[in-house]
Amino acid sequence: MERIIGKYGPPQSDTLIICIGGMHGNEPAGVKALEKVFEFLYKHRPPAQGRFIGVRGNISAIQQGKRMIHEDLNRIWSEANIKLARESPTLHSPEITELNQIFKVLDEIPFAAYKQKIFIDLHTTSGDNGTFVVANEYDNAKHLFESFKVPIILGLDQQLESLAIHYFIRHGFISFAFEGGLHQAAQSVDNLVWGIWTTLAQSGLISPVFFPDLSQTSQHLHQKFSRLPSILHLEHLHKIHENDQFKMKLGFKNFDKVHYGQLLAEDKNGPIYAQSNSYLLMPLYQTQGSDGFFLVK
Ligand SMILES: [Zn+2]
Repeated sequence: MERIIGKYGPPQSDTLIICIGGMHGNEPAGVKALEKVFEFLYKHRPPAQGRFIGVRGNISAIQQGKRMIHEDLNRIWSEANIKLARESPTLHSPEITELNQIFKVLDEIPFAAYKQKIFIDLHTTSGDNGTFVVANEYDNAKHLFESFKVPIILGLDQQLESLAIHYFIRHGFISFAFEGGLHQAAQSVDNLVWGIWTTLAQSGLISPVFFPDLSQTSQHLHQKFSRLPSILHLEHLHKIHENDQFKMKLGFKNFDKVHYGQLLAEDKNGPIYAQSNSYLLMPLYQTQGSDGFFLVK
């Protein structure tokens, strides 16, 4: 499995878009979405006003179909870990080795040479109906976020440490995670493909006149999400600690409305109730992962 999924457009230009798929190995939709977009680009060769690069995330976890091998690749993008990964890639964890290989690609790109820089991290979730964007700021990319037609979640990234998007924010990128939907659903691939093309269009990298037909996905997202608020703020994150025996109650989907006092999950300490009237996000229905659920308003 190659680290680079594709490269397109002139390296000497004003715009740079970097996109990672498969940061979590059990989320192949991101890789598939990037493969689809690059396949189309290589076949049709539309003119490009910028550089677009697609990268595979946790390759050893992708090969095993697991979220991670030893630690979460999307929680180790601190400067200290990046230094470790550059200097002693094989002495720590399989994910530090993955980080080393990702930085072999990133370190070749002269970030400072680009005026407009965008980073997209492609994900999927274990609960249904989970198509949304996680961003740290809305106003810096208002037009882009508005054109996605999916809810934008703010404040969530601050609860999670050392995400890839944090690294790219530090380097002047507009940086966000695009959650496509359920892990294995074909619709999730389409939603992520939509997110990539929309970013290519809004950044001016490729004109939409050269795009494939995206009207089905556009209509699907409009029908599903036009009744939800376009911006939601994080209210609460339920963290899971080791041996908590966390168990989400069955049947919850992303963006289900929950009310104060509603039973959401159970662990060894007893029932876990909603702390406010809000929307539920990312209910955990898989064994790996340390975030039980999020509440947003
Ligand atoms: Zn993920």
